[in-house]
Amino acid sequence: MTLVSGWGRYPTVETEIVTPRTLEAARRLTAEGEGVVARGNGRAYGDAAIGVSRTIAMKALNPHSPDDALSNGALHADSDIGISTLFWIERGGDGKPGG
Ligand SMILES: Cc1cc2nc3c(=O)[nH]c(=O)nc-3n(C[C@H](O)[C@H](O)[C@H](O)COP(=O)(O)OP(=O)(O)OC[C@H]3O[C@@H](n4cnc5c(N)ncnc54)[C@H](O)[C@@H]3O)c2cc1C
Repeated sequence: MTLVSGWGRYPTVETEIVTPRTLEAARRLTAEGEGVVARGNGRAYGDAAIGVSRTIAMKALNPHSPDDALSNGALHADSDIGISTLFWIERGGDGKPGG
């Protein structure tokens, strides 16, 4: 269990953080219990992304290459993608992905 809060640091709640690597795993973990909430970057002021039983960190579901992210001119990404990763995709994957 981990103590987690949003940007506003209130409330701070103990929760189990899980980081699914596939969408199927995220769906299964969501369906398994009540009080499950998805979490992106945790930067919302008041809308703290904390599940009372389980919090699903979405970061592993983000694209690992520009080809993953782009199709038909549209960007496909999940919550927790950061602006530096968007710039990395825009650079065609040159250099390191950001947060
Ligand atoms: C310094 C600062 C400046 C900001 N400036 C702006 C601004 O200019 N404009 C603006 O609009 N906002 C601004 N915000 C607010 C912030 O960007 C938003 O609240 C945004 O939602 C934060 O994204 P996050 O990924 O950190 O969300 P989180 O805090 O992780 O989650 C926010 C909510 O989204 C839900 N959620 C997360 N992922 C998923 C998912 N995959 N599926 C379903 N629900 C999900 C969570 O459960 C929670 O309810 C600012 C925040 C800060 C700290």
